[in-house]
Amino acid sequence: MTISQQIPVATLGMPRMGRRRELKFALESYWSGKSSAADLLATAKALRAANWREQHDCGVSKIPSNDFSLYDHVLDTAAMVGAVPSRYAWKGGEVPLDIYFAMARGKQGETAGCGHAGHEHVAQGHRSTAMEMTKWFDTNYHYIVPELTDDQTFALLSMKPVDHFLEAKALGIHTRPVILGPVTFLKLAKSPAEGFNPIALLPRLLPVYEELLRRLKLSGADWVQIDEPALVLDLNPNERAAFEFTYGQLSKAAPELKIMLATYFGPLEDNLETAISLPLAGLHLDLVRAPEQLETVGRLAPKDLVLSLGLIDGRNVWRANLPAILDRIKPIVAGWPLDRVEIAPSCSMLHVPIDLGMETALDVDVSSWLAFAAQKTEELVVLAQALSEGRQAAVGALKASAEAAAARAMSTKVHDPLVEGRIASIDGGMKQRKSAFAERSKVQAGTLGLPPFPTTTIGSFPQTPEVRKARSAHAKGELSYVDYETFLKKETEAAIRWQEEIGLDVLVHGEFERNDMVQHFGEQLSGLAFTQHGWVQSYGSRYVRPPIIFGDVSRPNPMTVRWWQFAQSLTEKPVKGMLTGPATILNWSFVRDDVSRAEACRQIALAIRDEVADLERAGARMIQIDEAAFREGLPLRKSDWKVYLDWAVECFRLASTGVEDATQIHTHMCYSEFNEIIDAIAEMDADVISIETSRSKMELLDAFKSSKYPNEIGPGVYDIHSPRVPEVGEISDLVMLARERLSDGQLWVNPDCGLKTRKWEEVRPALMNMVAAVCALRKKV
Ligand code: GLN
Ligand code: ZN
Repeated sequence: MTISQQIPVATLGMPRMGRRRELKFALESYWSGKSSAADLLATAKALRAANWREQHDCGVSKIPSNDFSLYDHVLDTAAMVGAVPSRYAWKGGEVPLDIYFAMARGKQGETAGCGHAGHEHVAQGHRSTAMEMTKWFDTNYHYIVPELTDDQTFALLSMKPVDHFLEAKALGIHTRPVILGPVTFLKLAKSPAEGFNPIALLPRLLPVYEELLRRLKLSGADWVQIDEPALVLDLNPNERAAFEFTYGQLSKAAPELKIMLATYFGPLEDNLETAISLPLAGLHLDLVRAPEQLETVGRLAPKDLVLSLGLIDGRNVWRANLPAILDRIKPIVAGWPLDRVEIAPSCSMLHVPIDLGMETALDVDVSSWLAFAAQKTEELVVLAQALSEGRQAAVGALKASAEAAAARAMSTKVHDPLVEGRIASIDGGMKQRKSAFAERSKVQAGTLGLPPFPTTTIGSFPQTPEVRKARSAHAKGELSYVDYETFLKKETEAAIRWQEEIGLDVLVHGEFERNDMVQHFGEQLSGLAFTQHGWVQSYGSRYVRPPIIFGDVSRPNPMTVRWWQFAQSLTEKPVKGMLTGPATILNWSFVRDDVSRAEACRQIALAIRDEVADLERAGARMIQIDEAAFREGLPLRKSDWKVYLDWAVECFRLASTGVEDATQIHTHMCYSEFNEIIDAIAEMDADVISIETSRSKMELLDAFKSSKYPNEIGPGVYDIHSPRVPEVGEISDLVMLARERLSDGQLWVNPDCGLKTRKWEEVRPALMNMVAAVCALRKKV
């Protein structure tokens, strides 16, 4: 039985790296000079072929091509249209591989994220010639930000979309090429010219897209998927008009080439009218984030507009309840002709792991509730089959799907009455410190006795090759538990001794025992699972394996107390307890879809609260709760910000306020753009916050004017993203700049972030200079 004549199935895009991360290893081998460009390209080609075949064999009829990228699809688009910044000394013509990679990673290509690969703005300081990188909408995928000048010109320089279409065609597979839409491309771009909006370049860019569409048509394409996720953002009338202009032009460029315009990551809302009025053959809707769109669009859209129904979650790992989806859409689509719809995931499946079949160590129940890209593809086919031919055509698969959903809903692995009871009994008192900051800061000043401008670090010290080697040897069973512990103790002790020696005021244990700031906690919490191969792309060749929050979260045992105790036993100086905050754990995980994000976050907050209480009981005078990903959780639409900020702040307070006035709560955030969220940051009511400011010359501290933010602040004075050691004078200058904006009593002195990605040879002199700068300052004031 072939269903391809009936309702088509699309996947919109597939993970690129291969089941065994073949692309990562091929890239790294090429970058290090161990293999040739030809080797790399051959690996890439084989991965594409395997991907196409697999989808073809599974019954996908709208198989994407050009969804593959060696690094990033936004960078591909920049290279395709010739948007290469002048510093790359590009001579025109097709952008050579080495310039392409230089744009992505700089020449030397050293990479170091900010302690976690899910980080918002990944370090670029030391990659001086690389282009900036930032988060792709609200995913943890990072794209290369196009840099466009006001006199930018464009030309079609790469035939990648055409080449990949032909490559698939040669294998006997007809594909639907995917390209990034011109409006989204320009909207994501930045310009060095002050006040210049790249959208203005649209008239110059469109001829390139028109030519591309004509070439695709000539090569035999009948459809093209154009991704315009910018349509789910807040747009001004100008930007909406840009969509009308663009698709008015493009629809004329190659009239027989049908355009499927893909929107995803949210509802169209106020852009809906614009979207359905465009002269298109098809429109893709994210019906996971915005299921209500189906009814509205179905009613308002022209009857000949093909609607691609994004029904399977492309952003999460859960197996769908297929009969429930059918029940939901059936009343709406019942009267529609079959050729009015396509079945698709909500967005490209780039953001989910490849194949659940690779997981051999997951709990069998948890595993039966999951679906990765390969399994989601099967789900799409089943949905299309049931819609085209009736449910009896897929009765077995539908039954299994419903059974898994029912088992998950009932499972005691998911539902813990103790956790649910605790959540129900949260009251206002649990979200409130005993006294206001003004009062408790006096108590803390009395008990802590810190000098003015206290110095500290953010938590981690270099994860040296020895540390990593020991961890992996232990994981493989080659290093015994006792020997590993002995090793970690030695590292911790050395770090404490050294911090004392150079005269830091508040010490940290160094985090040598941690693999990752989320995983370390996730592995000790109930309700979270970890995969062996569940990698998703963070940027370029960097992949992360996010934890999967599958059930009610609790903390069976203390997680950090032992290491803190050991470190504190070595010194009289205060050692900070070091925890990861609830919003950060949530934002860097796959989150369950059967409770709200707020609810899942509250559970994590209670688990952290328990840890905070245990640390305090053990004698910790300072406890730091890192919220590196707090800002990352902001929704795409401004109108949704308040709701997120309210519960994220509430969760931080739940986690942190159960302590005595004398216990000092610290938090840390890896960025400094706080202007729009400063009220929420103040609401968190941490006694001390450390932030990243060294590269912004403290200007971004303006948000923290004491009227807005009375608590204490440690603006970073040492750019940890760079191997460069800052001079004493530079650090003093930064501290002086901070003093212009904050009162002396508020100020701490610390690096921008944790030091795990740096080398001791860099960290030692840098921190000694930091302490020297503060000593000189103390003598003066
Ligand atoms: N405590 C963590 C560290 O020092 C914080 C890292 C982060 O915020 N990204 O590594
Ligand atoms: Zn940080």
